[in-house]
Amino acid sequence: MATRKPMVAGNWKMNGSLELVEQLANAIKNVQSDELDIVVFPPFPLISSLQQQNVVVGSQTVSENQAGAFTGEVDAQLIKDLGATYTLVGHSERRSIYGESDAVVADKFARAQHVGLTPILCVGESEEQREANETELVVAAQIDAVINKLGVAALKNSVVAYEPVWAIGTGKTASPEQAQAVHKFIREKIASADSDLAEQLTILYGGSVNEKNSELLFAQPDIDGGLIGGASLKAESFTAICESA
Ligand code: PEP
Repeated sequence: MATRKPMVAGNWKMNGSLELVEQLANAIKNVQSDELDIVVFPPFPLISSLQQQNVVVGSQTVSENQAGAFTGEVDAQLIKDLGATYTLVGHSERRSIYGESDAVVADKFARAQHVGLTPILCVGESEEQREANETELVVAAQIDAVINKLGVAALKNSVVAYEPVWAIGTGKTASPEQAQAVHKFIREKIASADSDLAEQLTILYGGSVNEKNSELLFAQPDIDGGLIGGASLKAESFTAICESA
């Protein structure tokens, strides 16, 4: 059985400052270890500063296009050149606010991998979809968009983050059992195409994770760590979550 290294990722969303870079980078130094991957996703302008403080960084999104006439967009190659190693793709806020479809998310995933960034593919259902028992359907379609475009092997150099939309920024966390059930579904779905890949794939949980609920969530067999929003902006909370992974 593969042993997967736990990962804790912090998504700052449109928050942060040079001051927060200093604060968080100093705090993270105390919990960095070879047994845990810690990655921070700041707004684009802070990528270099965080990376220079020896924090592993990623971008919160990436353009699906190559450099060119796309005002306001940021090219994956530039993000990589700034020192990022990861990028989120398909975060629910990108899907709902900016209308990113499964197909566009798959294009972003492909572009990120093309330049050597590791994509973290965010998937998850809305409250309505959960109530209509469509969770597995929705999550499967979001993953299939990538598999159909690139083949299942593309998931090898990636991470999946299961983030139920109803749990993001709401304080309403999925119970460890609810989260585990979807993580197990994702792993089994991928195992049906490639069991070794599924066993090695890091699958994170995201949605109102904090220092009080992280330990139980991370103790589930198919949960390999977390993608943390609000709590990643507070040094004490974020490092406590890292310690629980
Ligand atoms: C997120 O932004 O991915 C997230 C999970 O946010 P929060 O932890 O604040 O729910």
